[in-house]
Parts: sequence; structure tokens; C-alpha cells
Amino acid sequence: MNIDAKNLAGRKVYVAGHRGMVGSAVCRALAAAGCSDVVTRTHAELDLLDPRAVRSFYEAERPDVAVIAAARVGGIGANSAANALFLYENEMIALNTVWAAAETGVKRLLFLGSTCIYPRMAPQPIPESALLTSELEKTNEGYALAKISGLKLCEFLRRDRGLLYHSLMPTNLYGPGDNYDIVHGHVLPTMIRKFETARENGDAKVPLWGSGSPLREFLHVDDLASACLFALALDNPPDLMNVGSGEEVSIKRLAETIKAATGCPAEISWDSSKPDGTPRKLCDTSLIRSLGWKSEISLEEGVRRTVGDYRRELAAGTIRL
Ligand code: GDP
Repeated sequence: MNIDAKNLAGRKVYVAGHRGMVGSAVCRALAAAGCSDVVTRTHAELDLLDPRAVRSFYEAERPDVAVIAAARVGGIGANSAANALFLYENEMIALNTVWAAAETGVKRLLFLGSTCIYPRMAPQPIPESALLTSELEKTNEGYALAKISGLKLCEFLRRDRGLLYHSLMPTNLYGPGDNYDIVHGHVLPTMIRKFETARENGDAKVPLWGSGSPLREFLHVDDLASACLFALALDNPPDLMNVGSGEEVSIKRLAETIKAATGCPAEISWDSSKPDGTPRKLCDTSLIRSLGWKSEISLEEGVRRTVGDYRRELAAGTIRL
């Protein structure tokens, strides 16, 4: 999508979390849109848990726009084992980066979260209006509460002080820089690793979990980055918008797509002793679509690219396993 990044031309943009999968995609999209004044800090250079350090950073750099893509992230295993840590770190990152931006005169800010902020029993596809209507999913409650604080702080600052701070909640993301941890990882990168490993080892079978029937939605991170630029170009953006592909895919179709992209001849074997999880998980993207944005990378294309990224990252030793 050719985004008209008019609000970003000649602006200084701070991207928090530029080394992560989302932040690095946002930096690539900014560069492609001709935005050359992008400021970043590594974790070692700036501790986002330290409010004074964050404020000093904003005072020294004075960005016009901030994109908050920094977070402690992890799959269900990592989250459920450490809800306290996920709550504390993500809450501090959200409050420090958003509050200090407001206090130091940053005019525009985009805060990023994930659709796991919505209640456990939210209607499917999940609309933005489902926020805070019932109980959260317990396994990632800490992360969800922190992200809800961040998006609410943006909403309150917009209302109280007229600052144009708003949020995007993307669905399941994948792409370059993903985490390929086989135990704690999400299904898409885990499957890429399983098929690639089976191909290299010449295994006859690839063991996958559950029945293959659950339905999920996947979004390539470069599509999310295009949505970020799109949202930042809106004069009056909604406080909160979901970002997804709108394409519902069965786990079985995902597996076949990845098998084809990796060229792995092994047979798929479904392990019914492993959980299927929730039968359907999809976010309602009608709001962002109604404003003119849509995803452009099909699952086939995105998976093909990501298998290439996996191989490059593995060969370069930069892969996260
Ligand atoms: P969820 O979307 O929050 O449920 O979490 P996941 O990203 O882990 O996706 C889980 C879905 O993929 C479930 O239906 C699993 O049964 C299925 N699945 C199939 N094979 C695998 C695998 O190797 N790893 C994971 N994590 N999920 C798998």
C-alpha cells in the first residue's frame, strides 16, 4: 500500500523497541516512506523502566512523533509463568514512554499492543467495543492489563490535553525477527522451524498439535507497519483500532501452506493429545478497513518470505530460538 505519510514528512520520529519484530518493521516502513529522521535507543542505551531516564531522553531528542513498539513479549508458556514480570515491565514501559512524551511536548504518539487485551469470551470476530466488557484470559492477564493501561493513558491524554495519542491492536503477527522457540513459540514460526528441521533431517513425519481444525488469523509484520503509517497519517484517528488480515485460516491450511513453502516432503501427523485451544480467534477489522486500509500480503506470500527470512537468520546466527 502506498501510504501518504504527509504527517511524517520532515518530522523526527522516535521508535521505541526498534530491535523487535514490530519496531524493526516500523523502521523499514518509515525509511521506505522517505522519513529519514528516525531516533532509536538500544536497551543498553536507554532503560525504558526508568522514568527519569526516559524523560531525559525525550528532553534531549525532542521527537515530533513517537511509536511505542517496545514490550516484553512471549507466548502462553512465558506469560503464564511470569504474569508479575509481564505486568510490571510492560506497565512501566507503557506509562514511562507515553507519560514522558506528553510531559515533554511530543505532539503525536502511536501505542501498539495486541488483540489479547480483549476479554476471554469476547464475541468473534472481536470488535474494539469488546474492550473491558468482561474477564480477561488468565494466562496473559499481566500483559493485557499493562497494555490496557497504556492505551487508556493515550485516550485520557487526548481527552485531557488534546494530544493526538492513539493505539493499534494487531492480531497474531509473524515475519522477520520472529521468535522460533519450539516450546514457547506461537504456531506459525514453530511450524516453520518444525518443517525446516524435518526437511534437513530427512524425517518421514512432522508432528503437529491438535486436530488442525481451529481457525486463526495471521498478519505479516510489514502489513502492520503499513497500518502504523496509515494511522499516523489520519487527521482524526480513532483512539483504538484493530489490525488484522481479516482472513480466517484453519491450522491445517496453515500447515499445508508452510509445508509447500519449505518444500518439506514429510507427512503431517496430528497429535490429538495436544490442545487445540480456542476454536476460533479473529479480530474485527471493519473499522480500519472503513477508513481505507487493508492488508496486502497474503498468507502464501507472507509465509514464503518468512521461510526465506528464517533461512537467512539461521545462516547469519541472528535467529531467536
Ligand atoms: P493460540 O492462537 O493462542 O491458541 O496459540 P498458538 O499460536 O500456540 O496456536 C495454537 C494453535 O495451533 C492450536 O490450535 C494448536 O493446536 C495448533 N498447533 C499445531 N501445531 C502446533 C505447534 O507445533 N505449536 C503450537 N504452538 N501450536 C500448534
